Amino acid sequence: LTFPLRFLPLEQCEPSLPKSKHGHLGIHPQTDGTNYLGVLTPVGRITVPQMHALADIAEKYGRGEIRLTVWQNLIIPGIPDENIPAAAAAVLATGFDYRNHSITGGLIACTGSRGCKYAAADTKGNAIALGDHLAGTIQLDAPVNIHLTGCQHSCAQHYIGDIGLMGARVKLEDGSTVEGYNIVLGGGVDDTQAIAREIWKSVPFTDIPPLIGQLLVAYLRERQPDESFARFANRHTPDELRELSRPDKIAAA
Ligand code: SF4
Repeated sequence: LTFPLRFLPLEQCEPSLPKSKHGHLGIHPQTDGTNYLGVLTPVGRITVPQMHALADIAEKYGRGEIRLTVWQNLIIPGIPDENIPAAAAAVLATGFDYRNHSITGGLIACTGSRGCKYAAADTKGNAIALGDHLAGTIQLDAPVNIHLTGCQHSCAQHYIGDIGLMGARVKLEDGSTVEGYNIVLGGGVDDTQAIAREIWKSVPFTDIPPLIGQLLVAYLRERQPDESFARFANRHTPDELRELSRPDKIAAA
């Protein structure tokens, strides 16, 4: 540094602004008068042709720059107003989307069994299947983050997601095993920091999309005004959450 750092008492510091979950997806103005385009790239998987196409968009319509986000999405900054329609159409032509979705926008997964020897589950494949199921069956009006991690090393930080899944081999009655997850709820960071609590253990993955769907229906039905999913989850005991998410409870409502 070319200048000395100054230390101020905490009370003289401005608090950081609350984070807008998935707020970077879509078209947003920058302070320099241009815009950035946040692109949804589900669980960060991009083919080589898609990567070339995105690089071309950044060069042609932006300032030749792409930034990565913690939600495994990306940002193309520096796009002038007049280039926005063409840039947005070009993003859609790659097969990706820039429009936000309350679930898939905050769905992240570690490498999983396709590339990591520690994984107990195909986290990225399961995340995409889970996101497709939820996007097709439920409409949320507030963002919910889901983090899938393949083992206790927690590269996808399942314990700070609204909903966290940690890979586990699940033993069936016939003695065979299938891939599944332990499920934790209610984690958060910054102004909502919390470590998620384990609510379900050793759930086969095939049971998880309907279970999470039932949980989110229960959230929509039982939440208080303006209550986030994490606050809702932490206001209930584990037994209450399991009870609220039972299929017969949902059907009877
Ligand atoms: S969380 Fe485990 S399975 Fe996933 S990438 Fe990290 S070490 Fe591998």
